[in-house]
Amino acid sequence: MAIGHFKQGIAGGRLSPEQYADNFSDLHPPLDHHEALVESDRCYFCYDAPCMNACPTSIDIPLFIRQISTGNPIGSAKTIFDQNILGGMCARVCPTETLCEEVCVREVAEGKPVQIGRLQRYATDVAMAENRQFYPRAAATGKTIAVVGAGPAGLAAAHRLARHGHEVTILEARPKAGGLNEYGIAAYKSIDNFAQAEVDYVTSIGGIDIQNGKALGRDYQLSDLTRNYDAVFLGMGLGGVNALRADGEDAQGVTNAVEFIAELRQASDLASLPVGRRVVVIGGGMTAIDAAVQSKLLGAEEVTICYRRGQEHMNASEFEQDLAAANGVIIRHWLQPKRVIAEGGKVSGIELEYTAMEGDKLVGTGERLTLTADQVFKAIGQSFVPAALNGSGVLLALEAGRIKVDAEGRTSLPNVWAGGDCIYGGDDLTVSAVAQGRDAAESIHRALTSNGRA
Ligand SMILES: Cc1cc2nc3c(=O)[nH]c(=O)nc-3n(C[C@H](O)[C@H](O)[C@H](O)COP(=O)(O)OP(=O)(O)OC[C@H]3O[C@@H](n4cnc5c(N)ncnc54)[C@H](O)[C@@H]3O)c2cc1C
Ligand code: SF4
Repeated sequence: MAIGHFKQGIAGGRLSPEQYADNFSDLHPPLDHHEALVESDRCYFCYDAPCMNACPTSIDIPLFIRQISTGNPIGSAKTIFDQNILGGMCARVCPTETLCEEVCVREVAEGKPVQIGRLQRYATDVAMAENRQFYPRAAATGKTIAVVGAGPAGLAAAHRLARHGHEVTILEARPKAGGLNEYGIAAYKSIDNFAQAEVDYVTSIGGIDIQNGKALGRDYQLSDLTRNYDAVFLGMGLGGVNALRADGEDAQGVTNAVEFIAELRQASDLASLPVGRRVVVIGGGMTAIDAAVQSKLLGAEEVTICYRRGQEHMNASEFEQDLAAANGVIIRHWLQPKRVIAEGGKVSGIELEYTAMEGDKLVGTGERLTLTADQVFKAIGQSFVPAALNGSGVLLALEAGRIKVDAEGRTSLPNVWAGGDCIYGGDDLTVSAVAQGRDAAESIHRALTSNGRA
């Protein structure tokens, strides 16, 4: 029974301790040993398996599933980690329904794919529980590499570089490592402090020194790094958030969804986290869904997502949209925010305008709608903030506002590589950041070992 469900305004303690615990439990509970054997048996072990091509890290999926089915979960985990050292987190957060599982032959034939993500979690959990390390480091090369940002891209790059015998220093602005795995991913996708357990697992290889509270642009400049290290990898993610472009968006109660989620992920007591009674989320991607669902799970009475285009245009996958609906979130389409309505400086509602396509252009129709709200979340996309790079004196080339790289992750500056959300051309997924970090590390290794310096 909700205890504070109907508290007016933005308030904490809307639910009982049991409800909080229940609401934020594992979204996909792990498969047990028997379930994993049964599920792995469903795989046809296709020759030229389409799932492998659909995985951004190209894990040998038929092989790791066969290893599970033959009772070898440790070998299976090695197959996964060979390509993706953050395979444990990816197993929890990959939108598999639009990646490997979408193209599974059983999905195409029967509408029921092999549960690749859950099998991947099973194998990696077994190996990580035993802290099985598969990669002895190569002989020390004497080369040093600075990695900026301890998110999935930075961690994947650091691990691969350490494997090759290089010494890596990760400089991370925040107090904890993990990037959005620690501060962004929905709480019910990564329970029991898994992000930190994974950071420990990855760094157990040795040769990786993580220094927290060290922000590029504030505590040191890019030129310091290029001077003091043989190579630099930038994995800084996206630090900015797009504006609503609605009047009154400074009102109290208008919140950046990413900040709200970070606060939630770090809260030691969910009851202490205030949430509105009537919440409106503006956006159509994963962040919008996560902010909406978690608001509902924190006890908000009414949560509405407003998206300016149609359902088919939403970045959030069908699975995520269904998850929101299953949690009682209402998704409304073809609405754009025009004005935040405030009383005494606090949000009391939001005025939106209906939209329509005119040819291939989105236009407002002039017709308006007002929703009552005491909290409005902005989830309309994040942006790269290049300011931290400016102190180097030489500017990195950007493309569409993000760092421009070539196919190997090289930036326009010698000795400097980049990957993950901060580069142009990615798809802003954890697994893609891992792939780009890993591939840039290979490129750095080739450069450092072919001619001594990058
Ligand atoms: C709310 C939310 C939910 C998401 N959910 C999913 C999901 O379910 N599945 C999925 O696949 N993807 C999801 N994503 C996307 C995914 O989290 C990112 O694509 C991924 O984390 C990118 O990794 P990264 O290493 O490039 O950046 P980040 O994870 O952002 O890490 C960058 C790191 O760099 C640090 N940093 C930034 N600036 C500096 C500086 N100046 N100096 C030093 N350090 C700095 C940051 O503190 C951070 O630790 C989600 C994103 C958000 C915002
Ligand atoms: S990393 Fe993600 S996309 Fe790749 S096989 Fe695993 S769950 Fe599928």
